[in-house]
Amino acid sequence: MSAHRWLLVALAACPPLAAPAGDTARDAAAYAEAIEALNADHAKKPGKATEADLAKAFAKDKPAHKAFERVLASDDLAALERCADAALELALVDDFDAARARRAKLAPDDAAALPHALARERFLLVGEGGLGEDYLAHFAEVLDDVLDAYDEVFGFAELSKVPGKKLRVRLRLVEAITSPPHFAPEFAWHSEIDFPVVDAERFRSPTAQGQFLFYGLCHELGHVVAMWGPGPTRGDDEDHHAWAHYTGLRVLQHFADAKGKRPEWLADARDHQWRDYAKEVADKAAVEPGLADRDAVLALLFRLDALVGPRALGDAINALDAADERPRVNRVRYYSFDALGRALVKLEKDKSTRKQLEALLP
Ligand SMILES: [Zn+2]
Repeated sequence: MSAHRWLLVALAACPPLAAPAGDTARDAAAYAEAIEALNADHAKKPGKATEADLAKAFAKDKPAHKAFERVLASDDLAALERCADAALELALVDDFDAARARRAKLAPDDAAALPHALARERFLLVGEGGLGEDYLAHFAEVLDDVLDAYDEVFGFAELSKVPGKKLRVRLRLVEAITSPPHFAPEFAWHSEIDFPVVDAERFRSPTAQGQFLFYGLCHELGHVVAMWGPGPTRGDDEDHHAWAHYTGLRVLQHFADAKGKRPEWLADARDHQWRDYAKEVADKAAVEPGLADRDAVLALLFRLDALVGPRALGDAINALDAADERPRVNRVRYYSFDALGRALVKLEKDKSTRKQLEALLP
């Protein structure tokens, strides 16, 4: 008998330590597809369900969990990666961490490069490029405070494009920031902000290179809340990129004006010292408000803010959401200033303010 034959006999005599790769690939697919199906059903009819409710429903899916357990017991790195990615689509950080730990054990040399994840009620953070759990916890504090500021200033009811789903921020540690943070609406079930950072220790802004990451975060959340115009494939942005600048500035100013105890992280994030809301408003004082270009839209938003306040703008957006009166492209909401104006007038109780609104609106 040849050595080769002996090897085959020895292999056949031992019980398999792990399922063959084909089976674990199928198991990973079963797990991922169960999550995808749940997300697809939710996106069709979001109702009042939160992502935590969806996770509870998924916990009852025994076959999907058995499949995941078999993948976890395997040494199939591709299947483990597929499960880790799928877990993030439902913010299942425990599953993500279990798959991560198994991947780290099987390939210790690559472990440091594996991403980390952290979930909070309103968002999921993913840290790449060596951003660890400590950084994510620190950034979570920043984002929670910025979202609180958005609540206090505008009170938008919906943030993620699929109601109930958490907002995602993908934080990437890079050598140098070559493109600013940006909102990427193309992801399937939720809104995601791509967020490069150069400092793995703390959220510092502006960076040593003068990049305004704090303002950038406030700005991108404005895009997450509302995109303007008929959609990217059907024409130009109606807001000429002014809306997110306005909401970003407004929220920064809220931090600058806040009385009482300031969050600890604000000592390292000082963008509001360079971006003053009143100064920007003064700069546009002579501009005719309208929809002609970016300056005109900014002037319009500043005047609307001065006339009815940011909370009224938030209420108007919420009213349009509740009535479902806006087109969606890949589930991302698109608004028009015409509809916003009608909602503002409808919600305004004071007759003379209503008249001024009508005169101001394009
Ligand atoms: Zn922008």
